[in-house]
Amino acid sequence: MGVPSAFLRLSGCNLRCSFCDTPYTSWHPEGDEIALDVIVGRLHDYGVDHVVVTGGEPLLPPEIVLLTEELKRLGHYLTIETAGTVFRDLPVDLVSLSPKLANSVPWGTAWEQRHQTRRHRPEVIRRWLSEAECQFKFVVDVPEDLAEVEAYVAEFPELRSDQVYLMPQGTECDVLRGKLAWLVEAATLRGWQVSPRLHIELFGNTRGT
Ligand code: SF4
Repeated sequence: MGVPSAFLRLSGCNLRCSFCDTPYTSWHPEGDEIALDVIVGRLHDYGVDHVVVTGGEPLLPPEIVLLTEELKRLGHYLTIETAGTVFRDLPVDLVSLSPKLANSVPWGTAWEQRHQTRRHRPEVIRRWLSEAECQFKFVVDVPEDLAEVEAYVAEFPELRSDQVYLMPQGTECDVLRGKLAWLVEAATLRGWQVSPRLHIELFGNTRGT
């Protein structure tokens, strides 16, 4: 937050979170096929150092390696946002992992089983932790979710408390503010951080923001 950044959102995801706020990249994927050099050119034209590649799950297409190599060659500070189910050996400055908790499961849908079996990949998480600078962002819905975050953090002793962020689940400002009220206290008690959803506060839940 507070750093001018160009965002690239890739369509397609191997999960189907119940609360997904970009269903046009997961439940109902859409988008145009754009050549790599065109993507790189458009990002570079923003004239900002920081580029964030997000999704969907941006690590699914193998071309992500070429894309990141080219962006790094141009001197960008590169962040990848991922759910942490895929590892790729690529040049990146920060990996922002958002492991999906039980509150993400799309109960009663055709994706319930696949989502459940795919969402937790400890071997992938360990690989990222050992090979890149990482931060972990947990989407929290209710106070009861905090026990699951604690268990998750305990599973990875190499994970530092300053790498852990709690983010409220929601797409409406009132809902997010209500959850932030107790999330801030919960995070402070545990030495973790809080990540508000600033883009929702500024622009609402709109595409392209
Ligand atoms: S991992 Fe992200 S993009 Fe994929 S379904 Fe979950 S919230 Fe949506």
